[in-house]
Amino acid sequence: MTTLDEIRTIYQLPFPELLWRAMSIHRAHHDPADIQRCALLSIKTGGCPEDCRYCAQSAHYDTGVAPTPLMTVEEVSRRAQRAKERGATRFCLGAAWRESKEGAPFERVLEMVREVRRLGLEACVTLGMLTEEQAHRLKEAGLTAYNHNLDTSRRHYPNIISTRLYDERMQTIRHVQKAGIAVCCGGILGLGENEEDRLMLLAELAALDPPPESIPINCLVPIPGTPLEQAAPVDPIELVRLVATARILFPRARVRLSAGRDRMSRELQALCFLAGANSIFFGDTLLTAPNPSEHADAEMFRDLGLPDFSAASS
Ligand code: SF4
Repeated sequence: MTTLDEIRTIYQLPFPELLWRAMSIHRAHHDPADIQRCALLSIKTGGCPEDCRYCAQSAHYDTGVAPTPLMTVEEVSRRAQRAKERGATRFCLGAAWRESKEGAPFERVLEMVREVRRLGLEACVTLGMLTEEQAHRLKEAGLTAYNHNLDTSRRHYPNIISTRLYDERMQTIRHVQKAGIAVCCGGILGLGENEEDRLMLLAELAALDPPPESIPINCLVPIPGTPLEQAAPVDPIELVRLVATARILFPRARVRLSAGRDRMSRELQALCFLAGANSIFFGDTLLTAPNPSEHADAEMFRDLGLPDFSAASS
């Protein structure tokens, strides 16, 4: 197991050395031109009983996000087909639930998973806390991965969320792993945490057995009306350091440059790809948060000489 001291030693390497190590490991395990494009769809927006202090969908804050009912399978199918035509190979579904309740809504989500898989896409869902039984049923439906972020360090977590415990997160992750579903688990930078908190989060991820196959690294998108609306932006060099450290610690994982890309320059994103990030979410919104336009992403990929969006299969 990698200790916090070891992680700190990696993170604090001189920048060129850190980047070189991350690039070498990245190339040994991945094609560096293979940046997976994922689409993320909110299948049930807003009205969430949790109080995550960064979230537009929490019912605790007045953010102007109107709650919606659970989407139909037909609508999900249409969106997934469209995302596939635009080059997505993974389709992620998010529901603003504290936990996934039994009954018709859960059955519908299972049907959505079957439909996304039928279209030949990887399927990832995030539904809040899961029981062991629900994890098994998702596995049977063909789910590729379950997203359940730890967000930040264990010690900083109560400053960000008071309606659930870090250990409850861990328990759902164990249920997912036990069912044989890959875990997608990462964090958010810019929640008022310090460097040590970020490294502690990586240590928590490194302690998971097996390690997560997918690690989303988000930068806070400050949402007006939430307690973190005035949070300071993440330092770009610190972001690249964290991506590189994650790549070194998790050689096989997809490290996903997730929320916050709309506030990143193309140069910063390119540096993150060099440091080992090998996935983005595309589409004009990310759940309810802004995201770069598809056009801007397609142009960036073209300018970086990466496989073109417009060349995607239809
Ligand atoms: S992050 Fe998820 S669990 Fe937290 S308030 Fe938002 S939708 Fe609910």
